[in-house]
Amino acid sequence: MSFDAIVIGVGGMGSAALAHIAARGRRVLGLERFEPMHGRGSSHGNSRIFRRTYFLDARYVALAGRAYELWRELEGQTGESLLTVTGGLMLGPREHNIVDGALRSAQEHGLAHELLDVAELRRRYPSMRFREGEVALYEPTAGYLRPEACIGAHLQHAIAHGAQVRFGTSVAAWEATPNGVRVRTSEGEVFDADRLIVTAGAWLGRIANDLELPLVVERQVMHWFAPAHLAQAEPLESLPVYIVARDEGRIYGFPYVDGEGVKLAYYRSFAKADPETVDRTVRPEEVEPVRDILENLIPGASAQYRGSKVCLYTLTPDEHFAIGVHPKYDAVVIAGGFSGHGFKFCSVVGEIVADLALDGQTRHAIAFLAPDRFARKEREPQTA
Ligand SMILES: Cc1cc2nc3c(=O)[nH]c(=O)nc-3n(C[C@H](O)[C@H](O)[C@H](O)COP(=O)(O)OP(=O)(O)OC[C@H]3O[C@@H](n4cnc5c(N)ncnc54)[C@H](O)[C@@H]3O)c2cc1C
Repeated sequence: MSFDAIVIGVGGMGSAALAHIAARGRRVLGLERFEPMHGRGSSHGNSRIFRRTYFLDARYVALAGRAYELWRELEGQTGESLLTVTGGLMLGPREHNIVDGALRSAQEHGLAHELLDVAELRRRYPSMRFREGEVALYEPTAGYLRPEACIGAHLQHAIAHGAQVRFGTSVAAWEATPNGVRVRTSEGEVFDADRLIVTAGAWLGRIANDLELPLVVERQVMHWFAPAHLAQAEPLESLPVYIVARDEGRIYGFPYVDGEGVKLAYYRSFAKADPETVDRTVRPEEVEPVRDILENLIPGASAQYRGSKVCLYTLTPDEHFAIGVHPKYDAVVIAGGFSGHGFKFCSVVGEIVADLALDGQTRHAIAFLAPDRFARKEREPQTA
């Protein structure tokens, strides 16, 4: 069977790629080793922060703006509720990059924002506890996406436009051919296409031949808590999303969502993992420090422990994504290395990879995300 494009990995990014390619009237096949919206990759756990201010690098601001438009379009196309705007606090010492970098990106790009001192924070958010000297960059347009619903909506849109998707189908290998690409599944089935898009998340390093991309997979844990009584949960439903830099660790969290509780996690664990063998059970000693942080930030919110889930980051050395045409194969587009901050961009990444695969170029400014940037650096002569 031959297609215009094949997508390997139908998670956050792959489902968006399928939707964009199918909506352009092209024959596209998605191959996914697990079931739809499964919990073994990077796109599960009911909430992902969406924000436009970007402390890591202001070059993401334009991409976030387009991602926002596309999420809202997808909601209109599918009738699903995907993005809830709650406002967002980037909280810490004034000079911390979480505050300062977000502020600079907001100023540079004219994004709506406020800088809130501790008195104003206490006035606005009486259920939260702030410390002397803390400052927050408040972004009114921040909020959270529902990742499983986002993947479901992209799939629905893709299938409505004729995309074929095979779940429970693992890709064992692919190769470039004179006319495009050939993909072989572990069951021995073979598919041909003009173009290949590899959105394999934490498995990218295994399936992306000759990429020379130094990826590291990290095990992360998300935790859910709730107050002792339902009545105490109500004020927590209207909290903003928050990213907090304190001495006890950098965390991020969400309001009380859908009756499931308040979700909180460390920004990074620095625990290297292999997606095939990663320990998916969470030990009590992993829960307690996070519970203490939540109790200090929102007293009473951690009375009940509701559960934890393991999720995977796929990090590049500079924590920037790797999106672009494969350095060695023109027919292959890579989108990976999302380094723990990619979900908000799935919608625009779908558009970008569709542009690259079908037109060979994109209007989006993604040169800084080129997948060959690390290999190039190594080859460049070193000067003193
Ligand atoms: C705990 C946690 C919190 C996060 N918080 C945020 C946040 O608040 N905001 C934000 O923007 N981002 C956040 N992120 C990052 C974001 O969720 C990820 O960047 C994004 O989900 C990555 O999507 P993906 O499509 O690359 O990976 P996935 O969704 O995991 O998709 C990859 C897919 O490829 C499939 N696959 C792999 N190999 C094969 C094969 N050989 N054959 C067939 N299929 C294959 C896998 O089964 C999987 O379904 C967070 C990530 C984690 C883990």
